Amino acid sequence: MTEHVDTLIIGGGQAGLAMSAHLRERGLPHLVIERHRIAERWRSERWDSLVANGPAWHDRFPALEFDDIDPDSFAPRDRIVQYFETFAAQIDAPVRSGVEVTELVQAGTGFRAQTAGGVIEAAQVVVATGPFQKPVMPGLVPPEAGLTQMHSNAYRNPGQLPAGAVLVVGAGSSGVQIADELQRSGRQVYLSVGPHDRPPRAYRGRDFVWWLGVLGLWDAKARTPGMEHVTIAVSGARGGHTVDFRELAAGGITLLGRANSYAGGVMGFQPDLTHNIAFGDANYLSVLDTADAYAAKAGLDLPLDPEARRFGPNPDCVTNPVLSLDLAGAGVTSIIWATGFVVDYGWLKVDTFDDKGRPRHDRGVAAVPGLYFLGLPWLSRRASPFIWGAWHDAAYLAGHIAGQKG
Ligand SMILES: Cc1cc2nc3c(=O)[nH]c(=O)nc-3n(C[C@H](O)[C@H](O)[C@H](O)COP(=O)(O)OP(=O)(O)OC[C@H]3O[C@@H](n4cnc5c(N)ncnc54)[C@H](O)[C@@H]3O)c2cc1C
Repeated sequence: MTEHVDTLIIGGGQAGLAMSAHLRERGLPHLVIERHRIAERWRSERWDSLVANGPAWHDRFPALEFDDIDPDSFAPRDRIVQYFETFAAQIDAPVRSGVEVTELVQAGTGFRAQTAGGVIEAAQVVVATGPFQKPVMPGLVPPEAGLTQMHSNAYRNPGQLPAGAVLVVGAGSSGVQIADELQRSGRQVYLSVGPHDRPPRAYRGRDFVWWLGVLGLWDAKARTPGMEHVTIAVSGARGGHTVDFRELAAGGITLLGRANSYAGGVMGFQPDLTHNIAFGDANYLSVLDTADAYAAKAGLDLPLDPEARRFGPNPDCVTNPVLSLDLAGAGVTSIIWATGFVVDYGWLKVDTFDDKGRPRHDRGVAAVPGLYFLGLPWLSRRASPFIWGAWHDAAYLAGHIAGQKG
C-alpha cells in the first residue's frame, strides 16, 4: 500500500518540528517521519551533563518559553528533550516515530520514500535530518593500540571510561566541555587544541548570544573565507563561563597542538599550539572591541568590564608545547575524538548534490522542485543549525511551499 501525503518532513528534531509548526500555521497538510524518537540526538548522542550553549531566553522557539527555569540559565539536556516533546504536543505535530526513510527517489512530479512501514509518496519533501549526522574520526590510532576510543557523540560521563588519563582531540565546544568535566572528575587530561574562536560568555553584562544579535552576526550569510576549519569554543556548563585555555591548564589539563601522527604508541602534535591560543585570544578581543564600538555608537548604558581584557600568563604547556606523547608512558587509556561531523545522505537518491556531496540549494530550496533542506550550517545564515535559527528558516520554507501551491 502506498500512502500519499502533501509534504513529507524527514527528521523529528528541532528542524522537523519547526517545519511542522509553520506548515500547520498555513494549513498545509504534512507528516513528520522520525527513525527513532523526537529530539533523538539530544537523547542519545550528547553527554549526560550537557546543557545548552545559549541561555534559555535565547535557545528556544519564539512560540514556547522555558517556563520553569531562569531565562538566563542554560537548559540541561533532558529539559531540552522535554521542551521539544512539549512543543510537539502543543502544536499536535503529526510525528510518526520509529520509522526510517531508507531511500528517497523522484517519482513523477513528486517523491517516493521507502520506509520499513511501507512506501510514502509526497509532492514536497523537507530533509531535516540534522546538521551533525555522522561522527568524523580521523583514524590516526589503530584499534590494535589497545586504547578505548570514541567520538564525542558516544561520550556520556567519566565513569564510562577505564581508569587512567584521557586524551581529548578537538577543542570546540564539545572537546573543551568534555575535557573540563574529565579533569574535574579527577582524571589526568590532555587536550589537543586546533584553531578556534572563543568568544566571551558575557561582556558588559550581556551574554555573547545577545551581542551576536545586536551586532547582526547571527545573520551573517556565509563563513569568512579561510575560516572553514575554525571551531567555536563556548560553554553553558557550570552556569556558563568563557572558555579560557589558560584556566584549563591551571586546573591541570595539558594543552597540545593539533594531533597529526601516531606510531608505536607515540602521538605526534603540530607545533601550532601557541599560534592557536593567540588566534583564539585575538578573536576574543575582537568581540570585545566590536561590542565596545557598537555600545559607544548606539549610546548603550552598559557597565564597563576592564577585567575581561586581562589574561593570565601563558602556562608552560603553551610556551613549551609537547610535540610527542608516549601514550602508555603518560598513562593514557582513552581517546575522545571531538572532531566534528559530516552529513550522510546515502539514502537520498536525488540528483541534488554538488561534486563535494553537499546539497545544492538556495536558502534551503533545492534546485529539484519540491525538495527542501532545513537545519544545515549556513543554510541561510550563521543561525541556521541552531534552535531559533531553524525556526526562522522553516518559516521561509513554509512560505515557499505555500507559494508553489498558488
Ligand atoms: C554537542 C552539541 C551541542 C549542541 N548544543 C546546542 C545548543 O545548545 N543550542 C543550539 O541551538 N544548538 C545546539 N547544537 C546544534 C543543533 O541545535 C543540534 O545539532 C540539533 O540537534 C539540530 O537539530 P535538527 O533537528 O536540525 O537535527 P537533529 O537533531 O540531528 O534531528 C534530525 C533527526 O532526523 C532523524 N533522521 C535522520 N535520518 C533519518 C531518516 N533517514 N529517516 C527518518 N529519520 C531520520 C534523526 O534520528 C534525528 O532525530 C548542538 C549540537 C551538538 C552536536
